[in-house]
Amino acid sequence: MAVIDMHAHVTPERYKKAIRERGEWHGLDHVPGELGLGGFDKAVDERLSEMDILGVDMQLVTPTVGFYQYGNEVEVTRRIAKECNDEIREMIDAHPSRFAGLATLPMQDPASAVAEMERIMGDLGFRGVIVSDHVAGRTYDEPEFLPFFAAAEELGALVFFHQGGDTVVNHRIRRYKLGNAVGNLTERTLVYATLVFGGILDRFPDLRPYLAHGGGYTAFGIARMDKVAGALEGESGSGLIPPFGQADGFAQALPPSDYLGRFIYDCCTYSGSALRYLIDTVGIDRVVLGTDYPAPMLLHDAVNWVNGLTELTEAEKTAILSTNPGRVLGP
Ligand SMILES: [Zn+2]
Repeated sequence: MAVIDMHAHVTPERYKKAIRERGEWHGLDHVPGELGLGGFDKAVDERLSEMDILGVDMQLVTPTVGFYQYGNEVEVTRRIAKECNDEIREMIDAHPSRFAGLATLPMQDPASAVAEMERIMGDLGFRGVIVSDHVAGRTYDEPEFLPFFAAAEELGALVFFHQGGDTVVNHRIRRYKLGNAVGNLTERTLVYATLVFGGILDRFPDLRPYLAHGGGYTAFGIARMDKVAGALEGESGSGLIPPFGQADGFAQALPPSDYLGRFIYDCCTYSGSALRYLIDTVGIDRVVLGTDYPAPMLLHDAVNWVNGLTELTEAEKTAILSTNPGRVLGP
């Protein structure tokens, strides 16, 4: 059964060529492509060789997140997204059994984002999209994103939430790489909370959200979300009955924990016991292999890591490596 890595990134060759030749691509310098970091400068052939060594049959690839460019001019971001997505389509065409794709979108203009999503899901055969945890500070419960979610649901697009640099932690402290270590997981938890409390998942019952890095702190913190919503099991006599806190804008129909099974989560937790807890909290059918290849934070030798975990059964390992990714990607 094929092993599928559901979390991998690509820095486009056309960007690398432009940076090499003239130091610039659509106004961007060498930074967004993360050249020299991890393995972002590797060519496709090197990637395929490494996938063979790592035991990965297929990668679900996205453009490197420096290309989100939500703070750029819409037209510039639109062109960057189109070129990134076209290159991923070329990789898939050249190696259809090795790559599937998630596209980047100009999310600062939801109408343009929907247009590009329709293009890539239709003509280009992508499986979905990658978006940051917020759009230049705007969270996904804002009404401006309703057309985006409506289109994603209609198109059956997987919506992969993944950080893109700026986090709430960076506004408090910039030392010790805490924006990465803590901020990214905090942002992922905020995505879960805003989609749930904002009523987005009720409004779009067939939406397919997918959270990078195990969903951040969601699994560990979900009981506190239930508590604040007045929905903690065994406390129904407390008077805090949903929608407790209506003045706070709660729009969800169910206790926050009831939505855990609506999301997909990757296994990129770096810890067997944390992965065990994630599985026990969200359900084994919701967890997929995700390595963050070729970023510096990648899950090292991930297939062997999963297979060596004493915390997981053999059936759970197969589910994470193959069965679940195959089901999520579809035929
Ligand atoms: Zn990543």
